[in-house]
Amino acid sequence: MGKWKANFRMYKDFFAGYIKYREKIKDADKWITKYTKAKGLVVNPDKMYLTNLKIWLAENEDMYGQRICPCFEKTDDKQTDRQLVCPCTYAAHDIEQHGTCHCNLFGKAELTQEDWKKQSQRIMKEYRIPLNIQGNTIDTRNVPIDEYRQMDVPDPVHQFKQALNQMDGTFDMIVEREQSAKNIMAYCTLKKLNASYEQQEDVYRVTIKQS
Ligand code: SF4
Repeated sequence: MGKWKANFRMYKDFFAGYIKYREKIKDADKWITKYTKAKGLVVNPDKMYLTNLKIWLAENEDMYGQRICPCFEKTDDKQTDRQLVCPCTYAAHDIEQHGTCHCNLFGKAELTQEDWKKQSQRIMKEYRIPLNIQGNTIDTRNVPIDEYRQMDVPDPVHQFKQALNQMDGTFDMIVEREQSAKNIMAYCTLKKLNASYEQQEDVYRVTIKQS
């Protein structure tokens, strides 16, 4: 698929999300402001990026029933999921290390535009990896691990989101954990996509049918 088509899909998804979640986006401003004031932090100055994060948080709340971090997917462990609810318990460590939380939603007040730009580049590098595509199948395994959380970056759901901007027609995603297959299914339900999954030996194969 051409780059313009992938970009068109991305912007279409952004505006659809903005319209669908406009009330939740307003609500998010309340808890975000409360948190930044309490911690002496600021939010990402890039308005479009910030809005995208709020849309992804709202989507995660719809999919998982919890405001799970927009950079990670739900796990099959309740305690880990609680720790991933935004603002997550990992944020203080991330901010200490990079100046921003992992997703670049929150950052230190003294960050310059250049610092935010560097963090944007960091996250783009982490998430815009070349997908492991063989024919019509994407293998989501063997990606880097976030050492602090011990979680895939990008996880299968984020690889799937990227795949939707690149793939036409029917395609398969190979995932290691059943929870990832369920998460992709939940995203498909949200986006009204036809999907199913099955176990195949030690992996799960999710088949997505796009019209
Ligand atoms: S990394 Fe940032 S955006 Fe993600 S859950 Fe933590 S505080 Fe929220």
